[in-house]
Amino acid sequence: MARYTGAVCRLCRREGQKLFLKGDRCYTDKCAIDRRGYAPGQHGNARNKKLSEYGLQLREKQKAKRYYGVLESQFEGYFEMASKRAGITGENLLAILESRLDNVAYRLGFAMSRAEARQLVRHGHFTVNGRKVNIPSYLVKVGDVIELKEKSRSLDKFKGALEANASRPIPKWLDFDQNNKVAKIVAVPAREDIDLPVQEHLIVELYSK
Ligand code: SF4
Repeated sequence: MARYTGAVCRLCRREGQKLFLKGDRCYTDKCAIDRRGYAPGQHGNARNKKLSEYGLQLREKQKAKRYYGVLESQFEGYFEMASKRAGITGENLLAILESRLDNVAYRLGFAMSRAEARQLVRHGHFTVNGRKVNIPSYLVKVGDVIELKEKSRSLDKFKGALEANASRPIPKWLDFDQNNKVAKIVAVPAREDIDLPVQEHLIVELYSK
């Protein structure tokens, strides 16, 4: 599956907020948003740039895509899936994005960023219900058990990440046994469990045109 390979700090600057795409660096004073908190490009520093209704909707969609590292066609697929589910489409969309295996690995603290989590999944460090899954976009469901593989448990990178992320709260839809590096999906992610500053109703409006 294709992925964005450009400079990720530009994406944060474009959205005007931290998207936490670079792990450790995002929490230091080297963060580009703190140093240059305006959009990239020649006119990025122009003040009083008022966005149209379409512009606002587009920015919210781009923000959500960038948080989760998803490209356009896959995002459209998630939207279609969300609109077919019962309930509020925007919330369904976020719940689907949260259910990606790379996001779950990130939420559990195994990685400093979703991009790193994606790579860890690709490298086959996790199992779902006892079987190796190396597809970052794999969607977990209630009852699934996600586990760090036995031989990966002693790797310094996982120990370091879990320690560094110890203060990051684990959402309540994940029941994590940190000693055994195993987690169970106990609920569908609810909107209040998703700490993203995204106005999902604007994304729904955009796709509903
Ligand atoms: Fe975004 Fe992190 Fe870069 Fe800051 S350091 S601009 S939060 S990716």
